[in-house]
Amino acid sequence: MISPFPDRTLLLASLRDYVAQLREEGLDGLPRGAVIITGGEGAAPQPPPPRPPSVASDANSAAVRSREPAPPAPATRTAAAPIIATNGADAWRTKYPGLVQTGDLAALRNFIGDCQRCKLAQMRTNLVFGVGNPHAELMFVGEGPGAEEDAQGEPFVGRAGQLLTDIIERGMGLRRAEVYICNVVKCRPPENRNPEPDEVAACEPFLFRQIELVKPKVIVGLGTHAVHALLKIKTPISKLRGNWQQVLGVRMMPTFHPAYLLRNPGDKRLVWADIQEVMKELGRPLPGRGSRA
Ligand code: SF4
Repeated sequence: MISPFPDRTLLLASLRDYVAQLREEGLDGLPRGAVIITGGEGAAPQPPPPRPPSVASDANSAAVRSREPAPPAPATRTAAAPIIATNGADAWRTKYPGLVQTGDLAALRNFIGDCQRCKLAQMRTNLVFGVGNPHAELMFVGEGPGAEEDAQGEPFVGRAGQLLTDIIERGMGLRRAEVYICNVVKCRPPENRNPEPDEVAACEPFLFRQIELVKPKVIVGLGTHAVHALLKIKTPISKLRGNWQQVLGVRMMPTFHPAYLLRNPGDKRLVWADIQEVMKELGRPLPGRGSRA
């Protein structure tokens, strides 16, 4: 009998990736009709339909927005070659004339001004630019502001932000003010939904310029959507985390979003493993046992 699938291994790998992506979106199973396998001779596998929009209705912004997959397979750090070695994202340089002439973060903030470059402007209370040491060795990049951040104008100040602060201060032995923290989009998406592609495209030039101006030694990408925006890929975070990547010539460690850890504290050990790699890269000692977040 002729197999209906020309390459069964490839098909299974594709299905696995698709299911991992669904889990990232917070779905527990395949959408109805996502896969049609008749098994009949000559039948071909059907492509999955478009995913349903994610539902984000509760008020815990970061926790809702930063859905992560189920516990992933252990990272294969020995095969740590970047999945994507370059993000090829030079188009941002010419998107806003004058942007790359900004000489420091204050000039960049002035350049952004009362930004109306995407539809998120209409819903924000505060534009959340970034906070921390303008010459930090270590930079954290999240996805976008939530309700607390929008209200206060500072990134990572809600419950997830407190956990990030614990990771920085208790886990890494650094002060929060020593590092730099920002997001891909600077304005809060309504109903705490994920930023849409046009919003990311409008705002990412500011993030890339921030990276160039801060010139960190290491970036930590927090969660699926931040990492996807930085790398321009859609590989599941479960495959990316724990493996060094490259963004604008800077080493970038993808890891889970703190909001995900609030709901899945058992996975703190995975983030801790990633943080240890970051500390090694920075040439910094790890604090003693018992001080971790
Ligand atoms: S999200 Fe970015 S591009 Fe959109 S209005 Fe805010 S600062 Fe401007």
